[in-house]
Amino acid sequence: MSALYRLLPSMDRVLAHLEALPEPLDAPRALVREAVQAFLDATREEIRQGLIEREDALAWETLSRRIECFARSFVRPRFRRVLNATGVVVHTNLGRSVLADAATGAVALACRHYSNLEFDLSTGGRGSRHSLVEGLLTRLTGAESAMVVNNNAAAVLLVLESLCKGREVVVSRGQLVEIGGSFRVPEVMAKSGAVLREVGATNRTHLRDYEAAITPETAALLRVHTSNFRIIGFTKEVSLEELAALGARHGLPVIEDLGSGTLDDFGSAGLHGEPTVAQVVAAGADVVTFSGDKVLGGPQAGIIVGRKRYLDVLRRNQLGRALRIDKMTLAALEATLRLYLDPERARREIPTLAMIRATPQELKAKAQALARAVRRRAGGHFEACVRPGASRVGGGAFPERDLPTFLVCLSPKNPGLAPDTLRAALLDTDPPLTGRVEDGAFCMDPRTLRPDEFDLAARALALAAVQASL
Ligand SMILES: *Cc1c(COP(=O)(O)O)cnc(C)c1O
Repeated sequence: MSALYRLLPSMDRVLAHLEALPEPLDAPRALVREAVQAFLDATREEIRQGLIEREDALAWETLSRRIECFARSFVRPRFRRVLNATGVVVHTNLGRSVLADAATGAVALACRHYSNLEFDLSTGGRGSRHSLVEGLLTRLTGAESAMVVNNNAAAVLLVLESLCKGREVVVSRGQLVEIGGSFRVPEVMAKSGAVLREVGATNRTHLRDYEAAITPETAALLRVHTSNFRIIGFTKEVSLEELAALGARHGLPVIEDLGSGTLDDFGSAGLHGEPTVAQVVAAGADVVTFSGDKVLGGPQAGIIVGRKRYLDVLRRNQLGRALRIDKMTLAALEATLRLYLDPERARREIPTLAMIRATPQELKAKAQALARAVRRRAGGHFEACVRPGASRVGGGAFPERDLPTFLVCLSPKNPGLAPDTLRAALLDTDPPLTGRVEDGAFCMDPRTLRPDEFDLAARALALAAVQASL
């Protein structure tokens, strides 16, 4: 065993080797040294436990390659690009929406230069960051007023804290949901200091339930989009129109948390069931909140639109200062919203919209091109076939809807390579690739890949196949 320890190279030898690599590590020496130390410690531990027994496992050629691999992954940034071949367009774990080029360009400008973030160019005095996108939002939604905060959870919190603190908010029991990422209506309500007044039964709530719950303590009527959760069968929820009429009769605001919230009418793509924000405003909601980075296809943000008299209260709330959005987000949001002024352009240039609206013919052509890339770069390891499948919108919108797509499914030439082993190995490639395992095969959905990512995906597959069989 001690002979094995003696085979381990010295720190200096390894560092000299890493510094002489044709493709250097691009990391400070101290970090590289830490990486090498961690590798050598781990290898010593493997020897101690008897996991390494043979001298050839510690031969310099093998060891130096393994050290390089380890050091590269040790020093690289933790926040990384990922290839999304899951077909879930608004994938919360993978960063939700990919921004339009116009938006990324605006972000770069906003960070590279000074800006009029809070500077009124018409007076030379102090301006408000909220005013920068208010005009676009009111134009696109028909609402009287608008503001933007950090995310939709913050939007809901700010609305409840501003309008309902210490008083009651009436909500249907069927809408007291937990959304992925631990957003729970009852808990947000508690944080805001508002008191939840549940009405109805889990599956059915009637207008008379709301009506009976209204007292002098009532501050608002709240509707919440149930996102990824559906109650089916014997169900009833009160329509927004009915609730708005009830609210108006009692002088109470009707608040609608739309969750995803769309500015594009997906009905024209055959996707029905999600009203646009403009339709929700027109139906009588007094305050509407939604996310910037779900189907809207912009940056993370919480957008609040509605009646000016309520929005004015929100803008005066100190809490808004803690929830305010930064200049990069504002820049990305404005650029994204501007694209919506021309709906056709929005559908072409906002990746989230384009991916949701991609037609089966387009997706079939993409799948065939992806399969060709796999054959070209990883043909030694896999057969690739194209077959029909289904994608999902994600982000809580259209939860039960399958979007028809075409998948590229892989059969490894090494029959010992199990789909789950391949899936795990693909997480260790650069960039990592995520797909899904269906009917015992690893599959990629081209809906969420850009054509210029096909070669990267194919290369990742070739690499993972080699890694997984080591
Ligand atoms: C997603 C969602 C939220 C939370 O929005 P974030 O932008 O993630 O903070 C709140 N309510 C509903 C109904 C949602 O779908």
